[in-house]
Amino acid sequence: MNIQNTISALERKGYTARFFETGAEAVAYLERAIEGKVIGFGGSWTLYALKLHEVLGRKNTVIDPDYPDDGREFEEVALDTVRTQHYMLSANAMSEDGVIVNLDGHCNRIAGSVFGHEKIWYVIGTNKIVPSLEDAIWRTRNVAAPKNARFLKRKTPCAVKGDRCYDCSSPDRICSGLLINLQKTGSAEVEVILINEELGY
Ligand code: SF4
Repeated sequence: MNIQNTISALERKGYTARFFETGAEAVAYLERAIEGKVIGFGGSWTLYALKLHEVLGRKNTVIDPDYPDDGREFEEVALDTVRTQHYMLSANAMSEDGVIVNLDGHCNRIAGSVFGHEKIWYVIGTNKIVPSLEDAIWRTRNVAAPKNARFLKRKTPCAVKGDRCYDCSSPDRICSGLLINLQKTGSAEVEVILINEELGY
């Protein structure tokens, strides 16, 4: 993979793209870049690993449905993220030519990633970058989702076996909507932060 080619491809698709060698450098940039905003988070192990809730929460208001305030339900908080000023998430996979793929259960994350914000941020480790769109869809369904299901202790075949997607009919299924971003969507500014580390699933 030539990261400069990927950055150029993202820029041709309308994104702003930046590359950082380490998560610490990326976090320091984001801390400088975002201040005084309400930021909705789409569930992401990458954001958690980088402690972005904590760092960005110092100068902004972070709303994360996975960490609702006392007494609030996931759905209620997820609805609050739909119209936040900024929205931040990762990707389940991205092709080398800049097509971003995400799979979601409740679909608040993929909804938040396309509309309703003045700025959207993707934070993506280079472990998520694969050669083609087909590879990105495959990775999303057969690597990211099973790992997530296993971590969440879901009663699904992929969580038990951990090897691939079984397109299950389990009540515990975590996959409903698959979003393929062929290019930047809508009028919002969208910035893609690429980090040369293994981050998230
Ligand atoms: S459809 Fe079922 S088996 Fe496939 S990844 Fe989703 S939860 Fe796992």
